Amino acid sequence: MKITAIQTVDAAKMERYTIKDFRKQFPDDDACLVWLKQYLFPQGITCKVCQKITKHHKVAKRKSYSCDRCGHHVHPTAGTIYHKSSTPLTDWFYAVYLMASTRCGISAKQLERELGVTYKTAWRMFH
Ligand SMILES: [Zn+2]
Repeated sequence: MKITAIQTVDAAKMERYTIKDFRKQFPDDDACLVWLKQYLFPQGITCKVCQKITKHHKVAKRKSYSCDRCGHHVHPTAGTIYHKSSTPLTDWFYAVYLMASTRCGISAKQLERELGVTYKTAWRMFH
């Protein structure tokens, strides 16, 4: 399973983590992106141009952040399964939630049903 970039919640926490908590934490794609950014860059984003950690702000309507000093763009989803995917981040996150919350796992077929995505998309979430 390639959803390594985002083992959202560990199994222990999962015990009391409900779908309500999930919806509250990840109401939209922006919330998912903020989480992803925090996860990938806990110390802050290092700007490749400035060559140090700088302040970054979210670029409106894009899944990227821009350096406050030089404007260089950073895509937290680059190199992850979320990159270039037309599937909303919320769907990916929900898929991870489902996988983590069901002890015996979830099949691509179930994902297809739960998320209303195509089987191909559901399948990709696993591979
Ligand atoms: Zn910069």
